[in-house]
Amino acid sequence: MQQIRLKVLRNNPRDRSTYRDLCGLIDVSIITDNSYLHVGSGRERFEVNLNKLKEIYTKRKYIDINTIKELQLKAGYSDFVSTSKGIVIPGSSVKGNIRARLELSFHGFNGSVRSCFLRASHIVRANKGESGWRHQKVWSETVFEDRGFPCDYTKNNNVCLICDLFGTSGLKSLIGFSDFIGLNVKLEALDLPKVYAAAPSSEFNGKISFMNLKDYELGLILLGMGIVNSSIGRSVTLGRFKYKGLISDKKFGRIKYKINKIILNRFSSKLIINNLTFNPGSSIESEDLNTLCKELVNLSLKHFENEFKIVDEVSILDKL
Ligand SMILES: [Zn+2]
Repeated sequence: MQQIRLKVLRNNPRDRSTYRDLCGLIDVSIITDNSYLHVGSGRERFEVNLNKLKEIYTKRKYIDINTIKELQLKAGYSDFVSTSKGIVIPGSSVKGNIRARLELSFHGFNGSVRSCFLRASHIVRANKGESGWRHQKVWSETVFEDRGFPCDYTKNNNVCLICDLFGTSGLKSLIGFSDFIGLNVKLEALDLPKVYAAAPSSEFNGKISFMNLKDYELGLILLGMGIVNSSIGRSVTLGRFKYKGLISDKKFGRIKYKINKIILNRFSSKLIINNLTFNPGSSIESEDLNTLCKELVNLSLKHFENEFKIVDEVSILDKL
């Protein structure tokens, strides 16, 4: 089926050299939702129990093939990302996750579309069971939209909204992502697939900075995290194996984003929403935060009415 080329709505990106509109920081947690999470480092982990090795050697004074078996060496397991701060979900993975969800939540309307496909890759139609089939079921016809080449600021002065917010070649992002650091995350070595995965109920914490955003654009970032009615979002997908269904009775890649705090910095404009006013320098938490998240999301949905659709990816996947 030949797709009609959609016109990607593009404009000059906004000025990044001064502060205007909303600027600040979102304190966010990522919590695994009855599911394992694997974000691969691209490295394999080799693990040996040194105490056990010493114990056997002290007893027998030699090491042979049986010793190796007894030690139950762990080799060939794909490792989870870690840095000097411990187990982390890299900021780039979180950014990619939110960006891809937004790119795919916008769809063509009257021949135009608000976002190019920069993060969401172009794909070919897959039959049931083939690679990419579940991805297509979740995002339906949107994944096949012909949006042409992604924006590239080194070649063209105009970019789409998502590239203006998240950056593209030659254009700095307005939204910054720290690594999300694991809080007491326990990694389990699973045998099928051979990976180290964060166990269900793991929590990671990180910060998302933003500058020069309109209120409805801050709402859009929240929508990219699956936030709608409160500061805790619905279940969304992240990491490897998220489209695999059950593997050895285990679910992978279901998480929830939880907003802990939104802080406006001193360069920010006031945020006025309905009868609430938040001044530069204020930190928004608890009940105000719930209300604010909901109102910002509503503004965004209204602004992008007919262009944006909330897709409940996890409930679609669970029905496949
Ligand atoms: Zn773009």
